Amino acid sequence: MNIPFLDLKAQYQTISREINDAMQQVITACAFSGGKYVSQFEDEFASFCGCGASIGVGSGTEALWLALLGLGIGPGDEVITVPNTFIATVEAISLCGADPVFVDVDEQSYTMNPQLIEAAITPRTKAVIPVHLFGQPADMDPIMAIARKHGLYVIEDACQAHGAAYKGKVAGTIGDAGCFSFYPGKNLGAYGEAGGVVTGDPQLADRIKMLRDHGQSQKYYHNVVGVNSRMDGIQGAVLSVKLKYLDAWNEKRRAHAKRYCALLQGVEEVVLPREMEYVRHVFHIFAVRVKDRESFMQALTAKGIGCGIHYPVPVHLQEAYSSLQLGKGSFPVAERHGEEFVSLPLFPEMEASQVEYVAETIKDYFAARDCRKIA
Ligand SMILES: *Cc1c(COP(=O)(O)O)cnc(C)c1O
Repeated sequence: MNIPFLDLKAQYQTISREINDAMQQVITACAFSGGKYVSQFEDEFASFCGCGASIGVGSGTEALWLALLGLGIGPGDEVITVPNTFIATVEAISLCGADPVFVDVDEQSYTMNPQLIEAAITPRTKAVIPVHLFGQPADMDPIMAIARKHGLYVIEDACQAHGAAYKGKVAGTIGDAGCFSFYPGKNLGAYGEAGGVVTGDPQLADRIKMLRDHGQSQKYYHNVVGVNSRMDGIQGAVLSVKLKYLDAWNEKRRAHAKRYCALLQGVEEVVLPREMEYVRHVFHIFAVRVKDRESFMQALTAKGIGCGIHYPVPVHLQEAYSSLQLGKGSFPVAERHGEEFVSLPLFPEMEASQVEYVAETIKDYFAARDCRKIA
């Protein structure tokens, strides 16, 4: 059986008519950059999240960058985040001219360990960016409490967590701003590059709207130095179509994840993801942890199963951040997890039989190894 890691074509087939119509409307209206299809999606996404404002931008990376800029973060400031994330979280901090400061993650949730934050705060600290890794919201209550106590902003990196929830609150709406990526492979993915910021603060929303459009409040009257990070009209229209299905797709992801966990429960060599009691996990990524990753992945690949690693190198050990001089051993939990993570195929259109095939393949692999050990 051939099981891709992700199958965007399978999803397109289920909604192709609506998508084609939506794209054609944008083309007919020539509403290519910003415009009514973008503002319609912004309104829909704000109400989906249950928050005051949503601003469509060019990518998730730019969503994080503009949120930081909108909060006035710049050179000389420090922003606390985690090393086991996609590099964009940290790049956004660097792009503002601020300095990233890392804290390690929690052993079970894989998200920011709130107990380590206070020790990382200095007089220069301005903000904290928890990452809702793999679709599981970070433990926001203690993070918010520490941030408020020290007068820090909180920006949620919700780029993997569309529709996830923390104690009943939608991911992205708990901090001062929530940042989303609509990269095609995300739970809510555009047909190109796109991102968004949600916030309950109308002034911050206005600043981000200005920043994404060359700092202008009126055409050709520029109040601040901004960038071009407008969302494409086609992306707005596609996202409006897809947003209607997001909850149903997330439910399917959850069902597949639950099935994986039930089938793999007895396999002691595999550490399964844990959905913390305070969240609704949306399983953007279904990552297990195994010790001997290379041969494990080879065995899956040989059986036609696509898998991946998110992420093989924590950000503090990337060459791009070598100037921070944070060597191996700086963040032991994130580093160990980075060596053990393997992401299994998981997408809404997967069939139960495919999930079962992956689980069976994993069981067979470890059973065969156990036999070799005995012999
Ligand atoms: C995808 C992602 C981003 C960046 O989003 P882009 O749209 O690719 O720029 C940032 N943070 C995390 C955690 C992501 O997964």
